[in-house]
Amino acid sequence: MKKAVVLLGPPGSGKTSLAERLLGYLDGKIIATGPLLKDKAKEKSEEGQKVKNHLDKGELVPTELVKETIVQYLKKNGAPWLLFDGFPRHKDQIEPFFAMGERMAYRLEAVFYLELPRSVAFERITGRRVCPDCGAVYNIHDRPPSRPGVCDRCGGELIQRKDDRPEVAKERMEEFQRNTVPVITFFQREYPGKTFQVEGEKRLSRIVPSVLSILHGKKEER
Ligand code: AMP
Repeated sequence: MKKAVVLLGPPGSGKTSLAERLLGYLDGKIIATGPLLKDKAKEKSEEGQKVKNHLDKGELVPTELVKETIVQYLKKNGAPWLLFDGFPRHKDQIEPFFAMGERMAYRLEAVFYLELPRSVAFERITGRRVCPDCGAVYNIHDRPPSRPGVCDRCGGELIQRKDDRPEVAKERMEEFQRNTVPVITFFQREYPGKTFQVEGEKRLSRIVPSVLSILHGKKEER
């Protein structure tokens, strides 16, 4: 049975960076629904075009399509640890999350909720710059590249993601409040022993050891 770790938090709370960092210590795969859906939207298939329609409008993609995308990914990408970044992100996706676990042989191991004040989240999102060539991520406030606008890793020209622009960032934060906060409340209530709050404002170098000690501690308990 694979172990599923769910990362929840507002946009900008560092879920993706945390997941990437954990891969240095765990034999795992990241299931990042945002990027997976964006890839799907590039396909010419009917499914791909449907996904694209929703993404273009900034709406949540219907759960059936998200599920199908995750299953297709998991069929090709197995590992002992599965790190879910972006799913479940709506109350209606909780049941599918568990149902898929039975089908794809994973079990909920832990839920980490990265908490972050709204103002900090906003600054982090709108300050984010990415390299379209190699995928490196920077922040003009606290992790700037050595030369403004230029990727340290490959020399590419850094851009601001469309959805990181202030007006869209605000909408994404509202969407989080409306749809994802109820998911966090669900896990806190139903799985109190598996749900952990993390101070998203702390540096990753401090967050990672505490997350790992929780995950390893749970292993030793068995
Ligand atoms: P993200 O990169 O996580 O901000 O996701 C980008 C976009 O993908 C979101 O604005 C949604 O349209 C879509 N998306 C990502 N995860 C989900 C999900 N679990 N359910 C529905 N739509 C999703």
